[in-house]
Amino acid sequence: MASNNRMLCPSAQPEWHGSQVIGVMAGSADNPQMVFLDTPQAVTKRVLDLTNIVSPAEVFRFAAPCAHKDCEHYAEAESKCRLAEHVVHFTPPVTEQLPICAIRAKCRWWQQEGGAACFRCPQVQTNNLKPNDEMRVAVYHGVL
Ligand code: SF4
Repeated sequence: MASNNRMLCPSAQPEWHGSQVIGVMAGSADNPQMVFLDTPQAVTKRVLDLTNIVSPAEVFRFAAPCAHKDCEHYAEAESKCRLAEHVVHFTPPVTEQLPICAIRAKCRWWQQEGGAACFRCPQVQTNNLKPNDEMRVAVYHGVL
């Protein structure tokens, strides 16, 4: 069970304990771009129902306390999020300015990778059914 003082994963699932909506995906299927919410919103049935037949994490970005060793991306020996590391190494920046982000003070990606994560963060679609080559490498580290 995640505790409230854990850093936040900015690419969480809505059912995770403590999950909040932090953004809405805009852009296109090939170039998704998150629109950041000024204030994180509660994950309610009404919000989830808005996504209709697609999974909520295709439409929204959620943040929730980092799942640590319960997450496939967590490298316990180094206390690192591999996904954050790979997004920084394998995807291009999509903005030159830090996005105005309501969770930065508690964001694991920011804590670990600094602004390099934030410059790439808006293109991350948590449930991306058609990732581009860079994102596929970042998420699957070339496995697919
Ligand atoms: S913009 Fe930066 S601080 Fe905000 S969720 Fe993304 S990585 Fe975290």
